[in-house]
Amino acid sequence: MPKGKVISLISGSSGKPRYVVAQRGCSCTRCNNPITSGDRCAEIPKLGGAYANWKRYCLNCFTLIVEQTDSDLIKIREELNIVQGN
Ligand SMILES: [Zn+2]
Repeated sequence: MPKGKVISLISGSSGKPRYVVAQRGCSCTRCNNPITSGDRCAEIPKLGGAYANWKRYCLNCFTLIVEQTDSDLIKIREELNIVQGN
């Protein structure tokens, strides 16, 4: 038996997103809308070298990203069924 936790497609590659309250103003990586201090936003890690580089997204964009992840997962599951011959 392999040791350790089962990885997921999300936590296994780049890492899970996290929700933060912006401490200072910045802008959304996707739509460039301003995220003002005190706003809730989401961060997605992007690995590039030794440490994760967190990309910040407004909650509108993050909702779309989660929906896209859902539909990707459905596709992956369908393909898995085909590979397994179900
Ligand atoms: Zn956005």
